[in-house]
Amino acid sequence: MKFPIDKLPNIEFKINEPLSKYTFTKTGGNADTLAFPKTRQELVDIVNTARENDVKITVIGNASNLIIKDGGIRGVVIILPNFNQIKVDGNKVFAEAGATIIDTTIAAQKAGLSGLEFAAGIPGSVGGAVFMNAGAYGGEVRDVFESTEVLMPDGKIVTFNHDEMAWDYRHSVIQENGAIVISAIFALKPGDKAAIQAKMDDLNERRRSKQPLEYPSCGSVFKRPEGHYTGPLIIEAGLQGKIVGGAQVSKKHAGFIVNIDHATATDYMNLIHLIQKTIKEKFDIDLKTEVRIIGEDKAGEVSANS
Ligand code: FAD
Repeated sequence: MKFPIDKLPNIEFKINEPLSKYTFTKTGGNADTLAFPKTRQELVDIVNTARENDVKITVIGNASNLIIKDGGIRGVVIILPNFNQIKVDGNKVFAEAGATIIDTTIAAQKAGLSGLEFAAGIPGSVGGAVFMNAGAYGGEVRDVFESTEVLMPDGKIVTFNHDEMAWDYRHSVIQENGAIVISAIFALKPGDKAAIQAKMDDLNERRRSKQPLEYPSCGSVFKRPEGHYTGPLIIEAGLQGKIVGGAQVSKKHAGFIVNIDHATATDYMNLIHLIQKTIKEKFDIDLKTEVRIIGEDKAGEVSANS
Protein backbone atom coordinates (compact mmCIF):
# COMPACT_ATOMS: atom_id res chain seq x y z
CA MET A 1 0.00 0.00 0.00
CA LYS A 2 1.16 3.52 -0.83
CA PHE A 3 1.21 6.01 2.02
CA PRO A 4 -1.57 8.61 1.47
CA ILE A 5 0.57 11.76 1.76
CA ASP A 6 -2.38 13.96 0.74
CA LYS A 7 -3.95 13.21 4.16
CA LEU A 8 -1.04 14.99 5.91
CA PRO A 9 -0.37 18.05 3.70
CA ASN A 10 1.79 19.89 6.26
CA ILE A 11 4.38 17.14 6.68
CA GLU A 12 7.51 16.94 4.52
CA PHE A 13 7.66 13.81 2.37
CA LYS A 14 9.96 12.70 -0.43
CA ILE A 15 8.62 10.22 -2.96
CA ASN A 16 10.70 7.44 -4.52
CA GLU A 17 13.74 8.74 -2.67
CA PRO A 18 17.11 6.93 -3.13
CA LEU A 19 18.16 5.71 0.31
CA SER A 20 21.77 5.37 -0.88
CA LYS A 21 21.91 9.14 -0.20
CA TYR A 22 21.45 8.40 3.51
CA THR A 23 23.25 5.10 4.17
CA PHE A 24 26.86 5.00 5.37
CA THR A 25 27.60 2.26 2.81
CA LYS A 26 26.23 4.51 0.01
CA THR A 27 24.12 1.57 -1.17
CA GLY A 28 20.43 0.71 -1.15
CA GLY A 29 17.30 1.15 -3.22
CA ASN A 30 14.54 3.75 -3.01
CA ALA A 31 11.94 4.44 -0.33
CA ASP A 32 8.43 4.62 -1.76
CA THR A 33 7.84 7.47 0.72
CA LEU A 34 10.36 9.05 3.06
CA ALA A 35 8.85 11.13 5.89
CA PHE A 36 10.58 13.91 7.82
CA PRO A 37 8.31 14.69 10.80
CA LYS A 38 9.19 17.88 12.68
CA THR A 39 7.12 17.37 15.82
CA ARG A 40 5.84 14.52 17.98
CA GLN A 41 2.34 15.20 16.71
CA GLU A 42 3.52 14.83 13.11
CA LEU A 43 5.22 11.55 14.03
CA VAL A 44 2.04 10.28 15.73
CA ASP A 45 -0.04 11.36 12.69
CA ILE A 46 2.25 9.44 10.32
CA VAL A 47 2.10 6.27 12.45
CA ASN A 48 -1.69 6.45 12.86
CA THR A 49 -2.26 7.16 9.16
CA ALA A 50 0.02 4.28 8.17
CA ARG A 51 -1.77 1.89 10.54
CA GLU A 52 -5.24 2.96 9.39
CA ASN A 53 -4.25 2.48 5.74
CA ASP A 54 -2.33 -0.76 6.24
CA VAL A 55 1.00 0.79 5.18
CA LYS A 56 4.25 -0.72 6.44
CA ILE A 57 6.42 1.58 8.59
CA THR A 58 10.23 1.49 8.71
CA VAL A 59 12.34 3.81 10.86
CA ILE A 60 15.92 4.65 10.05
CA GLY A 61 18.40 6.62 12.10
CA ASN A 62 21.78 7.70 10.70
CA ALA A 63 21.80 4.51 8.61
CA SER A 64 25.28 3.63 9.90
CA ASN A 65 24.33 0.05 10.79
CA LEU A 66 22.08 -0.72 7.86
CA ILE A 67 22.15 -2.50 4.56
CA ILE A 68 19.04 -1.56 2.61
CA LYS A 69 18.55 -4.01 -0.24
CA ASP A 70 18.67 -2.72 -3.81
CA GLY A 71 14.91 -3.06 -4.34
CA GLY A 72 14.36 -0.45 -1.60
CA ILE A 73 11.59 -0.20 0.97
CA ARG A 74 7.84 -0.24 0.37
CA GLY A 75 5.45 1.73 2.53
CA VAL A 76 6.68 4.71 4.54
CA VAL A 77 10.20 5.19 5.87
CA ILE A 78 10.51 7.63 8.77
CA ILE A 79 13.71 9.54 9.45
CA LEU A 80 14.18 11.90 12.39
CA PRO A 81 16.87 14.53 11.66
CA ASN A 82 14.48 17.18 13.01
CA PHE A 83 14.41 15.46 16.42
CA ASN A 84 17.86 16.70 17.33
CA GLN A 85 17.60 18.46 20.71
CA ILE A 86 20.12 17.68 23.44
CA LYS A 87 19.67 19.10 26.97
CA VAL A 88 21.71 18.67 30.12
CA ASP A 89 19.95 18.75 33.48
CA GLY A 90 22.14 18.06 36.50
CA ASN A 91 23.82 14.68 35.92
CA LYS A 92 21.38 13.70 33.20
CA VAL A 93 21.54 14.19 29.46
CA PHE A 94 18.28 14.21 27.52
CA ALA A 95 18.69 13.63 23.77
CA GLU A 96 16.11 13.29 21.03
CA ALA A 97 16.28 10.22 18.79
CA GLY A 98 17.66 12.03 15.75
CA ALA A 99 20.52 13.70 17.65
CA THR A 100 23.83 12.02 16.95
CA ILE A 101 25.46 9.99 19.66
CA ILE A 102 28.65 11.91 18.89
CA ASP A 103 26.96 15.28 19.62
CA THR A 104 25.51 13.75 22.79
CA THR A 105 29.00 12.72 23.99
CA ILE A 106 30.25 16.26 23.23
CA ALA A 107 27.39 17.82 25.24
CA ALA A 108 28.17 15.51 28.16
CA GLN A 109 31.87 16.41 28.06
CA LYS A 110 31.11 20.15 27.97
CA ALA A 111 28.92 19.73 31.05
CA GLY A 112 31.67 17.78 32.87
CA LEU A 113 29.67 14.53 32.82
CA SER A 114 31.41 11.18 32.50
CA GLY A 115 30.08 7.81 31.30
CA LEU A 116 29.41 8.32 27.59
CA GLU A 117 33.07 8.55 26.52
CA PHE A 118 32.96 5.00 25.10
CA ALA A 119 30.54 6.22 22.41
CA ALA A 120 32.69 9.16 21.26
CA GLY A 121 33.17 7.89 17.71
CA ILE A 122 30.01 5.82 17.14
CA PRO A 123 28.40 7.44 14.09
CA GLY A 124 24.77 6.54 14.87
CA SER A 125 21.79 8.48 16.16
CA VAL A 126 20.49 8.24 19.72
CA GLY A 127 17.50 6.22 18.48
CA GLY A 128 19.73 3.76 16.63
CA ALA A 129 22.12 3.49 19.58
CA VAL A 130 19.28 2.63 21.99
CA PHE A 131 17.76 0.17 19.49
CA MET A 132 21.16 -1.54 19.05
CA ASN A 133 22.52 -1.17 22.59
CA ALA A 134 25.54 0.27 20.79
CA GLY A 135 28.86 -0.18 22.52
CA ALA A 136 32.60 0.08 22.21
CA TYR A 137 35.80 -0.17 24.26
CA GLY A 138 34.12 -1.87 27.20
CA GLY A 139 31.05 0.41 27.41
CA GLU A 140 27.48 0.00 26.17
CA VAL A 141 24.39 2.20 26.03
CA ARG A 142 22.74 0.13 28.77
CA ASP A 143 25.48 1.17 31.25
CA VAL A 144 24.32 4.82 31.22
CA PHE A 145 20.73 4.48 30.08
CA GLU A 146 17.96 5.72 32.37
CA SER A 147 14.82 5.75 30.20
CA THR A 148 13.44 6.25 26.73
CA GLU A 149 10.22 7.72 25.42
CA VAL A 150 8.84 5.68 22.54
CA LEU A 151 5.89 5.77 20.18
CA MET A 152 4.18 2.38 20.13
CA PRO A 153 2.57 0.96 16.96
CA ASP A 154 -0.87 1.79 18.42
CA GLY A 155 0.02 5.51 18.41
CA LYS A 156 0.60 5.86 22.17
CA ILE A 157 3.71 7.46 23.65
CA VAL A 158 5.09 5.53 26.62
CA THR A 159 8.27 5.49 28.71
CA PHE A 160 10.50 2.43 29.12
CA ASN A 161 12.87 2.41 32.10
CA HIS A 162 16.22 0.66 32.27
CA ASP A 163 14.84 -2.65 33.53
CA GLU A 164 12.15 -2.86 30.85
CA MET A 165 14.61 -2.86 27.94
CA ALA A 166 15.64 -6.56 27.77
CA TRP A 167 19.25 -5.50 27.20
CA ASP A 168 21.73 -7.92 25.71
CA TYR A 169 24.79 -7.70 23.48
CA ARG A 170 23.70 -5.38 20.61
CA HIS A 171 20.09 -5.97 21.61
CA SER A 172 17.22 -4.07 23.23
CA VAL A 173 13.48 -4.73 23.44
CA ILE A 174 12.93 -2.09 20.72
CA GLN A 175 14.06 -4.74 18.22
CA GLU A 176 10.92 -6.73 19.07
CA ASN A 177 8.13 -4.33 19.99
CA GLY A 178 7.94 -2.15 16.87
CA ALA A 179 8.38 1.03 18.94
CA ILE A 180 9.92 4.22 17.58
CA VAL A 181 12.42 5.80 19.94
CA ILE A 182 11.61 9.50 20.39
CA SER A 183 14.18 10.43 23.04
CA ALA A 184 16.39 8.98 25.73
CA ILE A 185 17.84 10.05 29.06
CA PHE A 186 21.36 9.05 30.05
CA ALA A 187 22.37 9.15 33.72
CA LEU A 188 26.03 10.17 34.03
CA LYS A 189 28.50 11.04 36.81
CA PRO A 190 30.36 14.29 37.42
CA GLY A 191 33.90 14.11 36.05
CA ASP A 192 36.87 16.20 35.06
CA LYS A 193 36.25 17.86 31.67
CA ALA A 194 39.87 17.54 30.55
CA ALA A 195 40.03 13.87 31.54
CA ILE A 196 36.75 13.12 29.72
CA GLN A 197 38.04 14.89 26.60
CA ALA A 198 41.36 13.03 26.79
CA LYS A 199 39.54 9.68 26.93
CA MET A 200 37.33 10.62 23.97
CA ASP A 201 40.38 11.78 21.97
CA ASP A 202 42.20 8.55 22.75
CA LEU A 203 39.26 6.37 21.63
CA ASN A 204 38.78 8.42 18.46
CA GLU A 205 42.48 8.05 17.67
CA ARG A 206 42.24 4.28 18.20
CA ARG A 207 39.33 4.21 15.71
CA ARG A 208 41.22 6.26 13.13
CA SER A 209 44.23 3.97 13.34
CA LYS A 210 42.28 0.66 13.23
CA GLN A 211 39.13 1.32 11.19
CA PRO A 212 38.84 2.08 7.46
CA LEU A 213 37.11 5.42 8.03
CA GLU A 214 38.30 6.66 4.64
CA TYR A 215 35.76 4.36 2.90
CA PRO A 216 31.98 4.01 3.17
CA SER A 217 31.09 1.08 5.46
CA CYS A 218 28.55 0.00 8.07
CA GLY A 219 31.02 -0.64 10.89
CA SER A 220 31.45 -4.19 12.21
CA VAL A 221 29.35 -6.39 9.98
CA PHE A 222 29.16 -9.38 12.33
CA LYS A 223 28.47 -9.89 16.01
CA ARG A 224 31.41 -11.25 17.96
CA PRO A 225 30.94 -15.03 18.23
CA GLU A 226 31.45 -16.29 21.78
CA GLY A 227 35.08 -17.07 22.49
CA HIS A 228 36.35 -15.57 19.22
CA TYR A 229 37.05 -12.27 17.46
CA THR A 230 35.54 -11.88 14.02
CA GLY A 231 38.42 -10.03 12.32
CA PRO A 232 41.09 -12.68 13.09
CA LEU A 233 38.71 -15.49 12.02
CA ILE A 234 38.16 -13.79 8.65
CA ILE A 235 41.91 -13.27 8.23
CA GLU A 236 42.65 -16.90 9.13
CA ALA A 237 40.07 -17.99 6.56
CA GLY A 238 42.05 -16.07 3.93
CA LEU A 239 39.23 -13.64 3.20
CA GLN A 240 40.84 -10.30 4.05
CA GLY A 241 40.86 -8.14 0.91
CA LYS A 242 38.27 -10.39 -0.81
CA ILE A 243 36.21 -8.43 -3.35
CA VAL A 244 32.66 -9.08 -4.58
CA GLY A 245 31.48 -6.49 -7.09
CA GLY A 246 32.39 -3.15 -5.53
CA ALA A 247 32.49 -4.42 -1.92
CA GLN A 248 35.67 -5.54 -0.20
CA VAL A 249 36.63 -7.10 3.13
CA SER A 250 38.67 -4.19 4.50
CA LYS A 251 42.42 -4.61 4.33
CA LYS A 252 42.67 -2.42 7.46
CA HIS A 253 40.03 -4.16 9.64
CA ALA A 254 38.70 -7.52 8.44
CA GLY A 255 35.46 -7.07 10.43
CA PHE A 256 34.45 -4.23 8.10
CA ILE A 257 33.20 -4.43 4.52
CA VAL A 258 34.02 -1.28 2.56
CA ASN A 259 32.46 0.13 -0.57
CA ILE A 260 35.51 0.58 -2.80
CA ASP A 261 33.86 0.97 -6.20
CA HIS A 262 30.14 1.72 -6.56
CA ALA A 263 29.11 -1.38 -4.59
CA THR A 264 25.48 -2.40 -4.48
CA ALA A 265 23.65 -3.81 -1.48
CA THR A 266 23.61 -7.13 -3.38
CA ASP A 267 27.44 -7.05 -3.46
CA TYR A 268 27.42 -6.54 0.31
CA MET A 269 24.92 -9.36 0.85
CA ASN A 270 26.83 -11.77 -1.39
CA LEU A 271 30.15 -11.01 0.32
CA ILE A 272 28.52 -11.43 3.76
CA HIS A 273 27.12 -14.78 2.67
CA LEU A 274 30.49 -15.91 1.33
CA ILE A 275 32.17 -15.02 4.64
CA GLN A 276 29.51 -16.83 6.69
CA LYS A 277 29.72 -19.94 4.51
CA THR A 278 33.53 -20.04 4.62
CA ILE A 279 33.73 -19.51 8.40
CA LYS A 280 31.15 -22.26 8.93
CA GLU A 281 33.04 -24.68 6.70
CA LYS A 282 36.48 -23.92 8.13
CA PHE A 283 35.74 -23.42 11.84
CA ASP A 284 32.13 -24.63 12.33
CA ILE A 285 31.21 -21.18 13.67
CA ASP A 286 27.95 -19.42 12.77
CA LEU A 287 28.64 -15.73 12.20
CA LYS A 288 25.54 -13.63 12.85
CA THR A 289 25.20 -10.18 11.33
CA GLU A 290 25.29 -7.15 13.62
CA VAL A 291 24.34 -4.94 10.68
CA ARG A 292 20.58 -4.82 10.10
CA ILE A 293 19.51 -5.92 6.62
CA ILE A 294 16.18 -4.52 5.47
CA GLY A 295 14.18 -3.88 2.30
CA GLU A 296 13.55 -5.91 -0.81
CA ASP A 297 15.69 -7.46 -3.52
CA LYS A 298 15.66 -5.67 -6.88
CA ALA A 299 13.31 -7.29 -9.41
CA GLY A 300 15.20 -10.02 -11.23
CA GLU A 301 18.05 -10.09 -8.70
CA VAL A 302 18.26 -12.24 -5.59
CA SER A 303 20.92 -11.55 -2.97
CA ALA A 304 22.14 -14.35 -0.75
CA ASN A 305 20.21 -14.18 2.50
CA SER A 306 22.38 -13.73 5.57
P1 FAD B 1 20.50 2.84 11.75
O1 FAD B 1 21.66 2.18 11.12
O2 FAD B 1 19.80 3.89 10.98
O3 FAD B 1 19.45 1.73 12.18
C1 FAD B 1 19.84 0.59 12.92
C2 FAD B 1 18.57 -0.05 13.45
O4 FAD B 1 17.99 0.83 14.41
C3 FAD B 1 17.51 -0.23 12.36
O5 FAD B 1 16.88 -1.49 12.54
C4 FAD B 1 16.53 0.91 12.59
O6 FAD B 1 15.22 0.54 12.23
C5 FAD B 1 16.64 1.11 14.10
N1 FAD B 1 16.37 2.50 14.50
C6 FAD B 1 17.08 3.61 14.20
N2 FAD B 1 16.53 4.70 14.77
C7 FAD B 1 15.44 4.26 15.45
C8 FAD B 1 14.43 4.89 16.24
N3 FAD B 1 14.41 6.22 16.45
N4 FAD B 1 13.46 4.12 16.78
C9 FAD B 1 13.41 2.78 16.57
N5 FAD B 1 14.34 2.14 15.84
C10 FAD B 1 15.33 2.85 15.27
N6 FAD B 1 28.29 0.35 16.56
C11 FAD B 1 28.65 0.04 17.82
O7 FAD B 1 27.83 -0.45 18.60
N7 FAD B 1 29.92 0.29 18.24
C12 FAD B 1 30.87 0.85 17.46
O8 FAD B 1 31.99 1.06 17.89
C13 FAD B 1 30.51 1.18 16.12
N8 FAD B 1 31.40 1.74 15.27
C14 FAD B 1 31.03 2.04 14.01
C15 FAD B 1 31.98 2.61 13.14
C16 FAD B 1 31.62 2.93 11.84
C17 FAD B 1 32.65 3.53 10.91
C18 FAD B 1 30.30 2.69 11.38
C19 FAD B 1 29.89 3.06 9.98
C20 FAD B 1 29.36 2.14 12.23
C21 FAD B 1 29.71 1.80 13.55
N9 FAD B 1 28.79 1.22 14.43
C22 FAD B 1 29.16 0.92 15.70
C23 FAD B 1 27.42 0.89 13.98
C24 FAD B 1 26.38 1.98 14.24
O9 FAD B 1 26.97 3.28 14.28
C25 FAD B 1 25.59 1.73 15.52
O10 FAD B 1 24.97 0.46 15.50
C26 FAD B 1 24.51 2.78 15.74
O11 FAD B 1 23.95 2.62 17.00
C27 FAD B 1 23.40 2.72 14.70
O12 FAD B 1 22.65 3.91 14.80
P2 FAD B 1 21.95 4.54 13.51
O13 FAD B 1 21.22 5.76 13.94
O14 FAD B 1 22.91 4.71 12.42
O15 FAD B 1 20.91 3.40 13.19
